[in-house]
Amino acid sequence: MKTTREQSAALFARALKVTPGGVHSPVRAFRHVGGTPVFIDRAEGAYLVDVDGNRYLDFCMSWGPLIFGHSDPDIAAAAKSAIDRGTSFGTAEATSLELAELITRAIPWVEQLRFVNSGTEAVMSAIRVARAATGRDKILKFAGCYHGHMDALLVQAGSGLAGQTIADSNGVPAATTADTLIAPLDDLAAVETIFAAHGPQIAAVIIEPVPANQGLLLQREGYLAALARLTRKHGALLIFDEVISGFRMAFGGAAEYFGVHPDLVTYGKIIGGGLPVGAYGGRAEFMAQVAPLGGVYQAGTLSANPVAMAAGLATLRKLQRLSPYAELEVRTRTLALALQTASINHSAVRINCQTAGSIFWLCSADASANPEAVHAPAQIPLTHARLYPRLFHALLNNGIYLAPSPWEVGFLSTVHDSVCIDTFTTAFKAALDSLSPD
Ligand code: PMP
Repeated sequence: MKTTREQSAALFARALKVTPGGVHSPVRAFRHVGGTPVFIDRAEGAYLVDVDGNRYLDFCMSWGPLIFGHSDPDIAAAAKSAIDRGTSFGTAEATSLELAELITRAIPWVEQLRFVNSGTEAVMSAIRVARAATGRDKILKFAGCYHGHMDALLVQAGSGLAGQTIADSNGVPAATTADTLIAPLDDLAAVETIFAAHGPQIAAVIIEPVPANQGLLLQREGYLAALARLTRKHGALLIFDEVISGFRMAFGGAAEYFGVHPDLVTYGKIIGGGLPVGAYGGRAEFMAQVAPLGGVYQAGTLSANPVAMAAGLATLRKLQRLSPYAELEVRTRTLALALQTASINHSAVRINCQTAGSIFWLCSADASANPEAVHAPAQIPLTHARLYPRLFHALLNNGIYLAPSPWEVGFLSTVHDSVCIDTFTTAFKAALDSLSPD
């Protein structure tokens, strides 16, 4: 492996002139870990190859869509064949119908769905449906959950119980977030208090059923079921944002995995097989609100693009055929155990590796730390933000590509076999050896 990334540095210098921060999505800029983004030339299976010819074993996997690895031959063939038949028709076609039929047959709580182009669009549309269906305005979200960049949900943990929220982004008018309530994760009593104060105004509660955007913050048993009970009691809808967990925790996502079914659900990532697709769906009575049937307007020039639909259909059919979930979960636990064991045997750095299905998260742990899982952002050790950038670069120099942010999770795909797990473990030990105690 070459040790230089000169071509990446040269391309980044050019990109900085024409694009804000040199990237088309902020976390790609390496701001959370320092240094220069790696420019990728090509990817195959579990590996990325950068423009300098360096090869990396990839555990970021395009942030989750690639459950069969990069350039899966079946998915690539489906997309290529679709391109040969036209890249966009702007009218009805049958591939999106087949994909919608496949999903609604397999996931009973999705009676109808609509395809869009991103997870953000899916969430934005589901929120609009929930507000229209209930005739209420307020949305309750959780601190530490990300739902894309729609204005009303770009809010950080404010003084949640009072319902005060502060926009997380410039350019978001205060009025836009005035109806957004924030609750802490891992605290059902706080949710009950918010419902006691605002119940009749709350249109929906939205949650990542496997929160995976500020570390991996798996909730305790019974938490999602309690949310379902509370929303039902107060006449609000429960929205599961399954952009990450959909088709990953199980075919039916976290809703199937945990046996708690939402009123509305949003999908992204895996549903497009690596091409830009999102979807929102749920009970037919709610989806009947959507135009042209109902009064909720939502549209898209490239929605249900036939190439993306073909890639999504090939992906979901393959998932149904192979059902790789149990095997993926075992492999992810094996990886986590190997990394944790390596860290326990090391004097410089202590790491916990939390997992949910084929999702994992490396989190700094104090030597004295309680090994119990982290359930909310406030429980993340303060050492994590300092340790992760050093670990990230040490791993990158040993040929492992993780998400360039302490708060982002890693993903296994079906092509991450035992050799990949051994490669990661060996590189992890070498990376730890290269780090001095903090
Ligand atoms: N919801 C969740 C849970 C996500 O993780 C993301 C993106 N990571 C989104 C929504 C937004 O999806 P997109 O980036 O496709 O707009």
